[in-house]
Amino acid sequence: MKRILILGGGPAGLFFALMAQRAMPDAQVHVREQNPEGVTYGWGVAFSQSAIDTLRPAAPDVLAKLEGNSSHETMDIALNGQTVTVTVDPAHLNARWSLLGVLEAAAVEAGVKVQHDVAEELSESEMAQWDLVVGADGVNSRTRERFADVFEPSVVLTENWLAWYGTSKFFNPSIILQDTDHGVVMSHASTFASDLSNFTVEVGQDAFDAFGFADKTEAESRAVCQELFTDYLDGAELLSNHSPWFQAKFVSCANWTHRNLVLIGDALHTVHPSIGSGTRFAMRDAVYLMEAMQQADWNVAEGLRAFETRRKPIASGFQAAALRSISWYEGLPSRKIEDPVKFALEYFMRTGRIRYSDFRSANKAVTDMYETQL
Ligand SMILES: Cc1cc2nc3c(=O)[nH]c(=O)nc-3n(C[C@H](O)[C@H](O)[C@H](O)COP(=O)(O)OP(=O)(O)OC[C@H]3O[C@@H](n4cnc5c(N)ncnc54)[C@H](O)[C@@H]3O)c2cc1C
Repeated sequence: MKRILILGGGPAGLFFALMAQRAMPDAQVHVREQNPEGVTYGWGVAFSQSAIDTLRPAAPDVLAKLEGNSSHETMDIALNGQTVTVTVDPAHLNARWSLLGVLEAAAVEAGVKVQHDVAEELSESEMAQWDLVVGADGVNSRTRERFADVFEPSVVLTENWLAWYGTSKFFNPSIILQDTDHGVVMSHASTFASDLSNFTVEVGQDAFDAFGFADKTEAESRAVCQELFTDYLDGAELLSNHSPWFQAKFVSCANWTHRNLVLIGDALHTVHPSIGSGTRFAMRDAVYLMEAMQQADWNVAEGLRAFETRRKPIASGFQAAALRSISWYEGLPSRKIEDPVKFALEYFMRTGRIRYSDFRSANKAVTDMYETQL
């Protein structure tokens, strides 16, 4: 009987646990999560249609529960009061706590044992008691740091500061740019439940310093942001769910495994909130790991080697797209942006993954407006 320990009950850890237990009903699959049940950070998480379709074969019943929940097919780009609406690949949004609830319920039903309020550090001797140990403990992974000499992680802080707020106001997925005396400030907003929306605020270092955010409490910062975006919030308040300012960490690891231990998800490598695909990326790691282990007939050394070999080049390509997005966002606060149409085009092509011709075929009215200016 196989024994599998998963550290971290986020999307990557729970999805792997679910797949492994379903594939091997007799296995002992344990998940250790530091938070109490139902407690997590953040607000709503978006899956593109392609993310849903790619993940679906791994657990069709679970993906059916995530699809269709607060779906949007257009996006608004708002610049100092002017808005351009563009057609986008459908996005399906779920509250992060609902997503985790769906994954955990399915995992437990399959037979996984999920322990909450546990955050013990993994020792080498404990590692040896399991056939496979999966480090899925997120961007600040203690598992990765514990074996940093083996994984050789690179952790780079991105320049801009972000705060992930919620609000009760309805928002079609939106990017909102506001000029201030201290440069451009940005928000990504999107409704993910009947009465809740994401409202992420992003500022450059100059604005962060000028507004004195480093010396403000979370509530004081939130009040300033509410004021900055008052024209869009229509009197709705910004809400907090563990919502301090942070600089996103861009993580990658030279090596992915250590004996019978493997990292997946944000613990192993990140993209960036601005490309809104970190959850998909993390859950796809779980799928790749599962496929590699099955093809190796659960020979751990062989399976982990295959996982790293097959997943690494794909993950590197996605991380390269994320880096282009990060650098584009980092340039925004110091720019003077005047034309929302040009800005919308630039936004959609910032990662190099969408071509002008593809954008044009879905958004002829917008590209016509742009082309008449050429
Ligand atoms: C502002 C913002 C917006 C985002 N929007 C989107 C989006 O729209 N779409 C999208 O796809 N992604 C989005 N993401 C990214 C997404 O949240 C992450 O990429 C994703 O959650 C990674 O999943 P994970 O399972 O690897 O890590 P996590 O979700 O971070 O899960 C790790 C888990 O491990 C637990 N843990 C940590 N340490 C320990 C320990 N020592 N012992 C036990 N448990 C531990 C944590 O409590 C956590 O539950 C966003 C991120 C941010 C910051």
